[in-house]
Amino acid sequence: MVGSTVLVTFSHRAAVGYVVGVVDEIPEGIPADRVLDVKKVVAEPAFDEVGARLARWMADEYACGLADAIHPLLPPGKRPRVRKGPDGSWELVTDRTHELDDRWVELVPDAKDFEPRAGANRQRRLLEALAEGPVRWAELRVTMGEVASVVQALQKRGVVRVVHHRVVRGSDDTSLSSANTPMPTILTAGQRRALDAIRAARDAGAGDVVVVDGVTGSGKTEVYLRAIDETLAQGKGAIVLVPEISLTAQTVGRFRSRFGERVAVLHSRLSDGERFDQWDLVRQGKARVVVGARSALFAPLYDPGLIVIDEEHESSYKQDSAPRYHAREVAAELARRRGCALVLGSATPSLESMGRCARGHWRQTRWTRVEMPERPGDAELPEVTVVDMASTFRSGGRSVFSAELAQALIDVARQRQKAVLLLNRRGFASFIMCRECGCVPECPHCSTSLTYHERTHSLACHTCGRSWAVRAYPDPSTCCPNCGSRYMGAYGVGTQRVEDELAMLFSSEGVPDVEIIRMDADSTRGKSSHQQLLEQFDAAESAVLVGTQMIAKGLDFPEVTLVGVINADTTLKLPDFRAGERTYDLLEQVAGRAGRGVLRGRVIVQTYWASHAAIQAVVRHDRELFLSTELQERSTAGYPPFTRLSNIVVSGLDAVAVRAATDRIAELIRVRVDGERDWEVLGPADCIRQRVKDRVRRHVVIKAPSDARVGELLMDCVREAKVSRNVAVSIDVDARDMM
Ligand code: ADP
Ligand code: ZN
Ligand code: ZN
Repeated sequence: MVGSTVLVTFSHRAAVGYVVGVVDEIPEGIPADRVLDVKKVVAEPAFDEVGARLARWMADEYACGLADAIHPLLPPGKRPRVRKGPDGSWELVTDRTHELDDRWVELVPDAKDFEPRAGANRQRRLLEALAEGPVRWAELRVTMGEVASVVQALQKRGVVRVVHHRVVRGSDDTSLSSANTPMPTILTAGQRRALDAIRAARDAGAGDVVVVDGVTGSGKTEVYLRAIDETLAQGKGAIVLVPEISLTAQTVGRFRSRFGERVAVLHSRLSDGERFDQWDLVRQGKARVVVGARSALFAPLYDPGLIVIDEEHESSYKQDSAPRYHAREVAAELARRRGCALVLGSATPSLESMGRCARGHWRQTRWTRVEMPERPGDAELPEVTVVDMASTFRSGGRSVFSAELAQALIDVARQRQKAVLLLNRRGFASFIMCRECGCVPECPHCSTSLTYHERTHSLACHTCGRSWAVRAYPDPSTCCPNCGSRYMGAYGVGTQRVEDELAMLFSSEGVPDVEIIRMDADSTRGKSSHQQLLEQFDAAESAVLVGTQMIAKGLDFPEVTLVGVINADTTLKLPDFRAGERTYDLLEQVAGRAGRGVLRGRVIVQTYWASHAAIQAVVRHDRELFLSTELQERSTAGYPPFTRLSNIVVSGLDAVAVRAATDRIAELIRVRVDGERDWEVLGPADCIRQRVKDRVRRHVVIKAPSDARVGELLMDCVREAKVSRNVAVSIDVDARDMM
């Protein structure tokens, strides 16, 4: 049966395989002696025929092996392997079945009024999570970290209790589906329009797509909940994807409170056993609503009426190992094959989605956009101020804080409030920048910022591989190509420096104790340290959280009254054509976070490039401004969504072999696409991350028309290149990370 795991023996080894199709006769062209018997069926079906066809589609589309493409469809942690037994025969190893964790935590009804003492933030969080109804222990661990001690403490006081529910493996106890949160009774006009569009898409049964384009807090989640409700009423299931980092107790709670035990949560932080349980609930048809990160798309829900992708613009929907799929694209394909509706929600929809909505269709499906510009009630948008750092610099400011931001920080500290400082930073890439006008030299051929290489004192373009010597850099006689200033310098501020300057600022102003919490790749190395730092910030009386991009999301503290962006433009200057879009999304995201509580929020954005459309659009709360500029530039330069961009990276310890392989691959692709309209092969060039773990990295970038089938062509060329065994080749179709 399709989807089954089977054992096959070749002449001298055994292998585990998966049934992707069943035929009655051996297809023509395959010699009968090459057909082997299935020795044994090892596991029952993990996917159906549509799943098998989807895997094939992914293998072609994303240029990977079929086995890689099937992997996400398999039950979590249950992959059988074969190994040679002591007597020389092949034996099968399956992970032993785990002990089922059927513990649920629930509030004791009489103790609903219990108030944890001030500062007992974990208790408060747990109670909040349970307010919507009982929650599985495993799920709490995923969303809150280890909860044993908190649960115990509250159990002693008789506030919560732990119950064992056998429901996961049988009984149909539905007592858990209690809805405590009242459903809003009156929908906004936008919400009604969105629901109508989704209903139409579902009824059409053709994989039509509805983009719900709604500002933060406009009630998108409420729309998903209602649409799912309708879908369930029609006897169909639903899949909801949220970015990993947003998969919090709060989010899950909202789905749980509406749909009770019909919800399964799939998340990488669950143990294999726990994930298997959830997965199996879906396969048995007990769970009808799957909520999870990217891979939840492949859950064995064979009759979805609806697929929802929240925050669809998020780059985490692209997987960075094979199969290098993008959840949006796979969801669109899956929706088409299953005949269900796809809903893409975002406050800043991707340009890909916007483009398809403007056309009205994409790959035989209709794309519609519904705007939800208003928030229910009258929640106010924060006030956004831009500070031009170039003029600050010209008038002598050398601190990482402008006078405005410094003053705002002091005010926050004096009023015992909280602030968040965002350092917009993506590590490795360094470039030189004029400190007076903010100019960064660009490649005249690729419109990407040139990166600075200390060793060779050169400026290099990592798209086309050209490079220029920087005369006598860092000698200050190097002038800015734009304004002639001599203050050109390698640019980059670390979180450490921000933390130090902040401490200095507070002590020189004599403001009382303010906790400074730093959150970056270094301080969050430990497993749950991310969570711990957030809790520390939550618990503090007055505090400043300093961090990189990772703090922009999932940040929901009502007491934050100030958000400062130290350097809005570092992502703008990245040698990446999505720089503007990323910056806009990030700023919009942060701006949407400030002042969600009673106090109105304030956002201060420091930049060397105040006139950039991405920054102006955020300040004026006017996205059209950003979109029109950005789309024009992408169209002129031939970037997505007007083209498809793929990246082939070759890496290895032997630089000569890497170079030879990259050249050969580029050559073969050039021959194949020679004379084809709108195809372009760029490079080979060194990657920006030129060396990773001693492996040298080079890449080739391929531009193709937006409707081209790229994967198969690239796969063919890479196969044909027969590169030596000591180099690794990765093909990334629709690449997002070009570094
Ligand atoms: P989004 O997902 O767009 O950020 P949510 O769905 O989380 O927005 O809604 C934001 C808040 O507004 C939530 O507290 C939600 O309960 C509430 N809300 C949503 N729709 C309505 C409505 N029609 N009337 C009143 N409140 C609503
Ligand atoms: Zn300048
Ligand atoms: Zn270039």
